[in-house]
Amino acid sequence: MRPVSHPVENVETSPVAPEAPANRLLRPAPFDRDGAFYKGNLHCHSTRSDGAISPQEVVDAYRRLGYDFICLSDHFEAEYGWKLTDTSTWRDGSFTTLIGAELSSPGPVGRGKYWLGAAGLPLDFAPVLDGETGPELARRAREAGAFVSLLHPGFNATTVSDLKGLDALDAVEVYNDGVQRAHDRGDGLYLAVEMLNEGRDLFCIASDDAHFISGGLDAVGGAWIMVRSPSLDPGCLLDALKSGAFYASNGPEIHDIVVDGREVEVHCSPAEVVCMTGPGCLARSVAHHRWDGSPLKVGDSGELAHIEATAPEGITCCRLLLESPGDAADWGVWSPGDWWRVTVTRADGKRAWSNPSRL
Ligand SMILES: [Zn+2]
Repeated sequence: MRPVSHPVENVETSPVAPEAPANRLLRPAPFDRDGAFYKGNLHCHSTRSDGAISPQEVVDAYRRLGYDFICLSDHFEAEYGWKLTDTSTWRDGSFTTLIGAELSSPGPVGRGKYWLGAAGLPLDFAPVLDGETGPELARRAREAGAFVSLLHPGFNATTVSDLKGLDALDAVEVYNDGVQRAHDRGDGLYLAVEMLNEGRDLFCIASDDAHFISGGLDAVGGAWIMVRSPSLDPGCLLDALKSGAFYASNGPEIHDIVVDGREVEVHCSPAEVVCMTGPGCLARSVAHHRWDGSPLKVGDSGELAHIEATAPEGITCCRLLLESPGDAADWGVWSPGDWWRVTVTRADGKRAWSNPSRL
């Protein structure tokens, strides 16, 4: 599993300069894939574990919000009978489900404990074995076919050293809306960055972790992923997840990302800020407004990032340089093997997170 760039096959939809050599154009997943975007949530709970409404009601809630699929990830614990919630009866032509669970690393709640989302488990996945460690459990889930993600690292204050041996990991939950609302610790991007800097490759998911509990501590529909897949078939969705063909969001859309030589072009719904980050403090950004509140126009931006198109509500296309020309040379360059990823932030603070790629 490794986020990679793929050659662009259909260049006529790309607004790149015609003289650019075709072999210089790359698109990271999911933008290199055929198919449609499907909206889904991989992390939520029902009365089968610690959620407050039934599995059927959970499915209905996401259907009403226009989601295409969910993984109802009830806790896989002795106190809940080591059972996975079977949501397959609610699949139809316009909505589907992945079978999965939230797995707990063994041991009491406290420093070093972590939780894993496993989407795509078989219903007869065996209970945690005596003496099984967290990394062994993750490996067994992945060998059983699951897409494995580390959930709410911000809530657990997880560090890289807590994850020693956890090699069967596909993704980090970079934003958890329930944890953000309840604890102001919904951010997990810090951990993804630390792992990427250490050479680990992983994808970025966002979830709402809804438990449907009254009192405003969580809200259904607060964050999701957009998966590009040839169809809504659960197997196709799972394959797309495992190959990184998705982005995460709690508001904005990312329409396309194209690497054109040493520039990264981003197409998105109107954004206040688009930024690209990498190892250390390597970063490029463009904003829609100056410090005094006046809007920037195409051509107003600096050497390292260019606005290519705007709408009244924000930037809709920009170019971010992987190199650092002329007077901006002190700002560093991306080198072969370095990772990069994009965040799109809307005027109301809502964000979309691309998966990382390596050069
Ligand atoms: Zn959860």
